[in-house]
Amino acid sequence: MKIRTATFEASAPDLASCPTSDRLEFAFIGRSNVGKSSIINMLTGQKDLAKVSGTPGKTRLINFFTINNTWSLVDLPGYGYAKVGRKDRSKFSAFVADYLQNRPNLVGTFVLIDSRLPPQKMDLEFLSWMVGCGLPFVLLFTKTDKLSDSAAKKSIETFVSQMQEVSEEAPEILTSSSKLGEGRSEILGLIAEALAEDTLAPGEGESIA
Ligand code: GDP
Repeated sequence: MKIRTATFEASAPDLASCPTSDRLEFAFIGRSNVGKSSIINMLTGQKDLAKVSGTPGKTRLINFFTINNTWSLVDLPGYGYAKVGRKDRSKFSAFVADYLQNRPNLVGTFVLIDSRLPPQKMDLEFLSWMVGCGLPFVLLFTKTDKLSDSAAKKSIETFVSQMQEVSEEAPEILTSSSKLGEGRSEILGLIAEALAEDTLAPGEGESIA
């Protein structure tokens, strides 16, 4: 998919404030500092569309970007940054849960995982919740330039084996490095496919959630 235009549309503090539109949406979520803003900037080809961590954890809103006037990229607040209050830190926000469960436009969610880290409790808890709700997602491992191919492969395998405790089905996986521009065509390809099929988990009756 060629990105012709990418523009900021709106920020919303809760589901009721989300823009009314019939454009299909793809959401991006992950722990603060996972590289979400960098991915959004890489995908859209704009350096500053999403802000790269000045103050991680500060972005507490759902941000909507319109792509090619046809679909929306949704930047969800990062979870789990140590500097936010304890109450905020323990779980992703209720309004994010509300958005993920009840937004009719949402096709699926890219859950970003830092490939340098061992499986994080907070990521696994979030994914367990997604699986429990039957919400479709793709695991997107970030910052692969920071480790060797074999170390990245091992890290992903470790994460996926832990995932078996929360999901019977093998998750769909993509890898990326915003620094090297890797993963862009695969992510956009998956979105193009999902737009055509109206689901993030195409396949013969298979669901990744
Ligand atoms: P966010 O908090 O999830 O939006 O994360 P950011 O996109 O702001 O990135 C957090 C930090 O990780 C920043 O210092 C980025 O420069 C760095 N970063 C993000 N993506 C990559 C990547 O693919 N490779 C490397 N080496 N660093 C990255």
